[in-house]
Amino acid sequence: MAMTEQINETNYQLLKTIVNHATSCVAAKDLSGRYLFVNGQYERLFNTPGEAFVGHTDADYFPAETADKFREADLEVIHKKKVLLIEEPVPIDGELRYFLSSKFPIFDKDDQLIATGVIATDITDRKRMEMALKKLSETDPLTEIINRRKIFDIAEKELIKSVRYNLPFSLIMVDIDHFKKINDRMGHLYGDQILRNVAQICRSTIRDVDDVGRIGGDEFLITLPNTSVSGALQLAQKLVSRIAQDELLNGDQDLPVRTTVCSGVAELTECNNNMAAIVNAADKALYKAKKYGRNRACLY
Ligand code: GH3
Ligand code: MG
Repeated sequence: MAMTEQINETNYQLLKTIVNHATSCVAAKDLSGRYLFVNGQYERLFNTPGEAFVGHTDADYFPAETADKFREADLEVIHKKKVLLIEEPVPIDGELRYFLSSKFPIFDKDDQLIATGVIATDITDRKRMEMALKKLSETDPLTEIINRRKIFDIAEKELIKSVRYNLPFSLIMVDIDHFKKINDRMGHLYGDQILRNVAQICRSTIRDVDDVGRIGGDEFLITLPNTSVSGALQLAQKLVSRIAQDELLNGDQDLPVRTTVCSGVAELTECNNNMAAIVNAADKALYKAKKYGRNRACLY
């Protein structure tokens, strides 16, 4: 064997060993999507010898939807002849795992595109941590409904959509009546339970497309896309009477306190066409409900 061939052979063994020990999935496919090579990580992940992959396509190993997405990405690499860096959810053994994949073109010595390569790193643990943190940052820990930041985010997006498509949009602001008294007479822990119950009643009364978040101590905001002010008022009244009649909140007639709420309703109009203005209008409507004797819903 000539000296250069020996060096090439050694280099090949060296590279092959390194690639096989990588904890990322490394593979190459021909231009029609058939595997030319997979590394040891594929063997470990699928419990299948690497040679078994050769000549097969992703459709033989993954659900159609996933295989189609892989092919789409490969075709993008083939057409653009550029590296593509993407996050991909991949079902493996009935479990959804997340990969950070670098997909790239492979050229021969004459600069002809001959294959696509992929290096895919499993980032499932990081991804799950990210998702958990995101959920945590959007959730009110006491009531487990979304928090002020998230509900205002949602409201802002719904408002933009409603203005764009000329659709109605309403808000309901809810505030517990004499909540300080409830805390004083029954204790803070009882007050906390009241907050959780009111949040649950709000959540179970609204539709799937609506949202409710806790925006302050005893205050909640409900977003109602595609809902005019008359529909919103009906819902606000239903909420007020459900809470006033709820057995968990008011069951024991000997309780020294009763739980009722006020709600203020406002809608998107030509004058009130931004978030601050609609929230301000709902707040004024709420104040009106408090002034008129509480346990009621009022319109701006
Ligand atoms: P109003 O009918 O005018 O709304 O009277 P209110 O007593 O409810 O007055 P307000 O809404 O201003 O009071 C809110 C109270 O909510 C004040 C605070 O002590 C209480 N609060 C705020 N956060 C919490 C909480 O996390 N848990 C409990 N138990 N109480 C809270
Ligand atoms: Mg209150």
